[in-house]
Amino acid sequence: MTAQIIDGTAIALKVRNEVKEKVAARIAAGKSQPALATVLVGERIDSATYVSMKQKACAELGMTSYHKPLPADISQEDLEKLIKELNADPKVNGILVQLPLPSHLDEERVLQLISIEKDVDGFSPINLGRLAQKGREPLFVPCTPYGCIYLLKEAGVTIKGANAVVLGRSNIVGMPAALLLVKEDATVTVVHSRTKDIPAVMKNADIIIAAIGRAQMVRGDWIKPGAAVIDVGINGIPVLDDKGNPVISEKTGKPKQKLVGDVNYDEAKEVAGFITPVPGGVGPMTIAMLMANTLRAAEIQDK
Ligand code: NDP
Repeated sequence: MTAQIIDGTAIALKVRNEVKEKVAARIAAGKSQPALATVLVGERIDSATYVSMKQKACAELGMTSYHKPLPADISQEDLEKLIKELNADPKVNGILVQLPLPSHLDEERVLQLISIEKDVDGFSPINLGRLAQKGREPLFVPCTPYGCIYLLKEAGVTIKGANAVVLGRSNIVGMPAALLLVKEDATVTVVHSRTKDIPAVMKNADIIIAAIGRAQMVRGDWIKPGAAVIDVGINGIPVLDDKGNPVISEKTGKPKQKLVGDVNYDEAKEVAGFITPVPGGVGPMTIAMLMANTLRAAEIQDK
């Protein structure tokens, strides 16, 4: 069997185009332009890149973004003051605090402070708590897990009644992905670093969401034939030549790297029914879902 490739780039583009049309329609109807505030503490290159991608997406979709770069040594008090100002600012619909924060800051207190109506990342304890409760709905769902479920639905995978295994239990991916699958009526097992015999646990999984940050750890023979595999992992590994030696970049003089997921793609695609590639699977969905959440925040705040 060769798996059907779930094209995250194309599906994300579809989501973005839908958001763009809805934004244009609300502006034509005299409503406000949705606006996202991005809070970046310090100068981590990866965090700065993610924030600039989010700002660029806002501009492309007709939304405003307000960037709030802060020094790495900002005090807890000053950061909390900014969050309170953004909560109170009617021009701001969504607040995104780029994680991780420097270790001297209390991340939980910061996330707790974001108004749930502006919590477009879905990380506030209230939104996450609602996700975990039966009969309650969060206002916003964390963007990466939301993107995973969206991809499954777009591919036509039946979630209701399926056996699902989520690899990873982080607050931002694994755990909310598991909770979302439960809400969609899947039977869910969560695998983590203390799980014994992971291949045996995965044997009956109709759906696999892999979010562990371990390059190509999930092997083809761990996967049930026909399963849907969503690979969240983003891992850099060295590019090797025919003899297995690292290829050195002429430009940088350093070993060339390529991105791979948590799943051994070449093996898995021969067994799975559906699979997301890395790159081009879950990655593009995260920002698309953030844009959808920001539009939703503006709509909630219209009322
Ligand atoms: P974390 O490091 O926060 O969590 C990793 C999880 O995997 C933990 O629950 C950990 O278990 C578990 N784990 C680690 N090693 C093993 C192992 N050998 N066997 C079983 N479980 C293991 O990572 P994140 O959730 O933040 O990210 C996971 C991956 O997803 C990363 O590659 C990251 O780059 C990627 N990512 C991609 C995004 C996208 O947009 N595509 C967005 C966010 C993340 P334990 O809890 O016991 O420590």
